[in-house]
Formats: sequence, C-alpha cells, structure tokens
Amino acid sequence: MSDSSAASAQTQSKTKPCKRGSLHSRTSPDLCGFADARPLMSQRSLPGTPVTHKHLPIDLRTSMDGKYKEIAEELLARSLTDSDMRCAPYEFPEESPIEQLEEKRHRLERQISQDVKLEPEILLRAKQDFMKIDSATDLEYLKDSHVDQLYMHHMETLVEKNFQRVSISGEEKCGVPFTDLVDAAKCVVKALFIREKYMVQSLQTFYKTTGRSLQELSQRPLDDDMYKDLHESPGDSDMSVHAPVSETHPYEGQDMKNLPPDAGYSCKMVDGVIHVYTAQSPMDKSTELDLPYPDLQEYIADMNVMMALIINGPVKSFCYRRLQYLSSKFQMHVLLNEMKELAAQKKVPHRDFYNIRKVDTHIHASSCMNQKHLLRFIKSSVKKYPDEIVRVQDGRGQTMMEVFENMNLTAYDLSVDTLEMHADRNTFHRFDKFNSKYNPIGESIFREIFIKTDNHIQGKYFGHIVKEVMSDLEESKYQNAELRLSIYGRSMDEWDKLALWAVSHSVYSDNVRWLVQIPRLFDVYRTKQHLSNFQQMLENIFLPLFEVTINPSSHPQLHLFLQHVVGFDSVDDESKPESHVFNLDSPSPARWCDDDNPPYSYYLYYMYVNMTVLNHLRRRRGFNTFVLRPHCGEAGPIHHLVSGFMLSENISHGLLLRKAPVLQYLYYLAQVGIAMSPLSNNSLFLSYHRNPLPEYLSRGLMVSLSTDDPLQFHFTKEPLMEEYSIAAQVWKLSSCDMCELARNSVLMSGFSHKSKSHWLGPDYTKEGPVSNDIWRTNVPDIRVGYRYETLCEELHLITQAIRTQELDRIEEEEGLSFTSSQSTN
Ligand SMILES: [Zn+2]
Repeated sequence: MSDSSAASAQTQSKTKPCKRGSLHSRTSPDLCGFADARPLMSQRSLPGTPVTHKHLPIDLRTSMDGKYKEIAEELLARSLTDSDMRCAPYEFPEESPIEQLEEKRHRLERQISQDVKLEPEILLRAKQDFMKIDSATDLEYLKDSHVDQLYMHHMETLVEKNFQRVSISGEEKCGVPFTDLVDAAKCVVKALFIREKYMVQSLQTFYKTTGRSLQELSQRPLDDDMYKDLHESPGDSDMSVHAPVSETHPYEGQDMKNLPPDAGYSCKMVDGVIHVYTAQSPMDKSTELDLPYPDLQEYIADMNVMMALIINGPVKSFCYRRLQYLSSKFQMHVLLNEMKELAAQKKVPHRDFYNIRKVDTHIHASSCMNQKHLLRFIKSSVKKYPDEIVRVQDGRGQTMMEVFENMNLTAYDLSVDTLEMHADRNTFHRFDKFNSKYNPIGESIFREIFIKTDNHIQGKYFGHIVKEVMSDLEESKYQNAELRLSIYGRSMDEWDKLALWAVSHSVYSDNVRWLVQIPRLFDVYRTKQHLSNFQQMLENIFLPLFEVTINPSSHPQLHLFLQHVVGFDSVDDESKPESHVFNLDSPSPARWCDDDNPPYSYYLYYMYVNMTVLNHLRRRRGFNTFVLRPHCGEAGPIHHLVSGFMLSENISHGLLLRKAPVLQYLYYLAQVGIAMSPLSNNSLFLSYHRNPLPEYLSRGLMVSLSTDDPLQFHFTKEPLMEEYSIAAQVWKLSSCDMCELARNSVLMSGFSHKSKSHWLGPDYTKEGPVSNDIWRTNVPDIRVGYRYETLCEELHLITQAIRTQELDRIEEEEGLSFTSSQSTN
C-alpha cells in the first residue's frame, strides 16, 4: 500500500520540478507554498504503513519502507522464543561471534599499549612521525576538498586550539559505496528525528549539536526555544566552583499556607493516559486542556521503524565500521596528544581528579550505604532504642530487643559475614539470588525495620542512615548522588507517605537529588489481588502527581518533596522472559487483567506519556519538570534499548549496546547518557574484563561511572571513588579519561542549571571547547575539542550524503522534465 503512495508521491514531484539548488523550497514546503509537492504524506495509518513519515521534515525514503511492521514483529517474536540467540540479527558480523573478535582486538591493543609503555623511545619516534601531519596542512587539505562553507568556518574557529588531528582523505572515505552510505545515512537520520520528536514533546533535552545538524538538514525555521533551557542564563565567569549553600533548610519553616494556589482543574485517566480538564468535573470533554503526547499508534509505528533499522544489513555494516573507525581514531588521538593533555592538566593549579565534581548517576537509596556502615548502624540502634516498638505482628507491638531475641541474636553476634548482603560468585546470572541479598541476615524483618520508608516507625531508621550517607557526601564536598526511592503503584497514598518520610525526617542534602524508581512488579501485585488491572497501577503512580500539581495544598509535603525529584526510573530484572509483544492489538491498560507482566516497552510507553502530560501541566504552573532515566540494556531483549533510545533522556547500564552496532552508533550520535556500573555488572551479568565501558568511552559515547548498590558491591566509605579507582587500574584510564567521565556524570545528571554552571563553568551549555572550563573540570580543552570535532564530522558525513543525493535527484528530475518538455515541443 505504501508502495502506491510512494509512487504517487513520485509522480507528484515530477509534475512540479524544483529549480536547481532549490533544495530549500523542497525540504520546507510550508515556507514556500509547495505543501502538496511534499513526498509521502500518508494521512491515515494503514497496517504496515509508516505513519512516522508525516512527522519527518525531509524525504527519507529507503528500501525498507512499507515493511517495518513485518520486520519488527518478526524480530520481537523471535526475542520471545530464543532469548539466547548465538548471533542475533542486530549483531555484526554474523559469521563470527562479535565478542571473540572484540576480545582478540582488545588483547592486541593492550599488548601494543604495553609495548609502547616499555619503550618510550618508540613512542617518541612514532609521535614525531605523526606530528608531521600538523594542523596547518590538515586545514589546507580541507580547503581543497569540497566541504561546505559552514563546515569550514566551523573548523577554522576550532583550529585555534592547537592539537594534533587525524584526517581521512579521498572519495568514499567512510569505506562503503556511496549508495550504501546514503541508505544508511537516511536510516540513521530518521532514527535521530524520531528521538528528537519524543524528547521535545516531553520537555526532555535532545543533544544540542545533533539537534543543530538535523535542523540544518531539514531547513526548519530556527526554533531557538526548542533546545533552550528555561533558566539558561550565562553565569559569571569568575563565579565560585561551589554552588552557594542555602541558609535555610528547604523543609523547615515552610508555611504551608503560602503554597501556590489551586488551579481548579480536574483530571481523569482514559486508556492509560491522564487527561486534564479546566472544569471541576472531568465529565465535560470540551474543557480538556491541550497537553500533547504521542498516541499509541504513532509510538508503535516509530518503534517498528527503529526495529527494522537495527537489523538492516548495510546499515549495520555501516555503523559497525563507523564505530571501529571512532575507536581507532581515538587511539590515534591519544597517541598524538597524550602529553599535551597531561601538560594542560598540570598547568591548572589546585585542580585534580579528587577535587572535581562527580555525580553517582545511578544508585539506589536502599543500598546506598556500605555493609560496614549498615552493621554499625544496626548495632548502635539496638543499644540506643532497645524498647522502641518497631513492628506489629498479629496485633501486638514488638520492641527492637524482642525482634532480636526472637531470632536468637544479640547485637554482638552481628558481623558483615552474618549480614550476608554482599553479592558474590553465587549471584552471577542469578538476579533472584541477588534480590534476596537486600535482606540483612536473609531476614526480611531487618529490611523492613532498617531500609524501608514505610513501616511502623515511619522509616525513622532508614531516614537516619540515609542522612549519615548524605553527610559523608557533604564532607567529601565534591561527590554527589542521585538516589532512587521506590513508588510501587499498589496504593494511592504511597507518594504522600514517601514525601512525609522525606519532610518529617528532613532527609535532604544539597549533594543529593532524588529519582523515583518504579519496579515492574504488576504481575506480583495482580497475583496477590492487590490490583485488578494495569490502569489501576498507573493511576496510583500518576494521579497524586497531577493532583498536587493542580492544587499543591492537597498534598503539601509532596509538593515540597517533588522540587527535589529529577525524574523517573523503571527497574527490575530485565532478563526475565517477556510473554507478550507490544503492538496495536495489545490490551489497553484498563483491559490488562492478566497475571502476566506487560512487556518492558509497554511500561516505558505509559510512564513516558503520563510524564509528558504531567510535564506540560507543571511547566504551565511554573514547577520543575521530570525526565525518564530507566534501567535499560542490562540484559534481556534488544527492544529495551530501542524504547530507551526513543523515550528516555538517559539510561542506566546499556551493556547490550555492545552487541547492536546500529543502536550503539545512534546512542553516540544523540549523545544519550549511559550510567554504567561495571562492578555491579561483574557480580550479575558481565565479568569486569568484558565490560564495554572503555570501548564506549573511546568511541565518545556519553558514559559515566556509577555504583548501583554500594551495599552489595563496595567495601569502602567512598564507593564512587572505589568504582573510579578500579576502572582506572583495570583499564589503565588516564587522568584525562577519569576527569572526562566525571564531567559527563555532571552533564547527564539532574542537578540544577545553577549548580552545573558552578561545577562545570558558566558556559557549559555551549558547544565545543568553549563549553569547558579546565579550571573547574580538569578536562583539557583538547579532549573536549576532539570529541566535538569528531561528532561534528560524523554528523557531517551523514547529512552531507543525504544533501548530495538530494541534489543529484533534483538534477536528474530536471533533466527528465527537460527532455520530456522537448519531446512535447
Ligand atoms: Zn540499579
């Protein structure tokens, strides 16, 4: 069906040939009144028709059009049956297992780097040889080759910062034939447009440089607003490296009467999405507020397009090559500039790895303390509060002492060994065993008393221990954390209880921001009859948030608490088999009454749409908005990473990107943040030496280091430093690499624009080396410049291919219409 529409689009464009060089009028029909000349505008969504075309600003037809649905469903279905495919269709190359190849290469690389370290003279000579290709000649060469003016200008301004560059010359310099390049480029650009659409719609951020490239390609009118941070204001260049500490505690002395007024709206969930009405009663449809979100049909169609892209042979091969190239290029960069980078770092007084800001971008509150700390805390609590009633069993209150006596334990008996919370060799590939490690001494009673926010003592002990962790962070001054707290969606009052816990125990720190994690446990609650359908769970999660946004006085503590929440996380064991493929035939949330868990993408979509509507409402009211930062790609099927790419600002883990070159390349181009926790992976899913972090880093993906669960994985008082330390030693990271990781962690974190300006420099939102302030970040401008130029070159390669092909096509069509007009004469 789409074939016929494509054909009609072609005849249309033949009847209205554009003039040479009128690329502009072709690609932005709205501007010059050629609206009907726009190719491929299917208004209705027919089965198998890519609805997404109507959202794309340029013509990106490829050979796969019209087959997305079939390809995607085939792939999704396969992921249900054999989750352990030896070589999945999104991997590359298919003949030989990718990991063997990679490992061989790694070994070789390590060998080389060790040889080089042993013989500094060789290194020196190699460097001298390479230095002959200096930046001046590079520039001369670039001038010769036909790159467009804009790009030239770009490079010229950059070359000021002098470092050694590697350049590739010749035609077809990306190593694949031009037609393959064009096809791959179109696919990649299409995927980037899809992500951009979802990010913009939900008020999350899309990477600026990539966004600018897409904008230039589609020649849309400049929409400054789109990438602008609401509070973006250039800071003072000599502002201090410390954000000012607020004098007053945000939760204390708050007059609950001074809360923002009631907007008087009402809201109701329809088909899993909350709708907001200006009238007091949600019955009157005419009063519905226009809070946009992508509908299910659109999401499924986009998802299908993405699924088909990641298994397309030529695209896969193209992306694989680009990633290999990026790795090699980085190695060359380090070889040529290592000394300069180091020298730049040495030149900065005072600043070193210890006193730059780092954020633990992925850490769960319930395991944010290490075992020794928890042990000490339990022992001291038993001594301090032996007679406090800590739980109720069978209607009778039990004191702390009684709990211990019932278990035949004294505080003296306890040791780290008896707590038994460390992940060990028995947890590898056994997430179920790992989950039980959350129970001290294997007893859920202790977990309930000490690490829950909602218990008989209103989470008093948990509040205290989290505050101790916070004060450790404050003492270390430069370490920050984004702690995850849970909302389960079992009942409507969970949010109020959580907020009350935070406010009443004053659990707050300038070094900490909250993320709210939602465990994907619908099947468990359904089996226990807590919930009758999935919509109930969604209502429990989102209705309170809408109520408090409409009328802050309805949940005053929640209103205060939400100001320090930066986003949502989705958590659970990703390797659990999924028994359902999410498509248009899937039951709506209200009709999802199975005992089966909905698939990952289903959870993520409904979290995303409700968050999108909520964000629009909150922005209207001048409140902070949220982002989606799920656990994604730790294990399980590849479509998790596809949903993550489309819907979330950044992700945690992303391990499986190592197997999917197309996705990895897309994550690179869109600079999607990936919070990685190699120590956690080492205990659960992937041994340390096979972790892809060093490879992602070398290729330029936006990665940061995080701890996940210090209680289970770390031994020292500073788990984040432990994580960096081990990574640095195992992978031989340079000081520059470490500082880059730390800078990434601040960039992808949810801390305020103001804090980031203090920590990274007042211009951190700009592009390229100007965004960096080595006096604060200890990252050399050379490194930031290299990353920026490399990304620009990749984006340029792709967009230029599409432009060139577009021009060729126009020329061809003009030729056609010329000959046809001659023949009629
Ligand atoms: Zn985690």
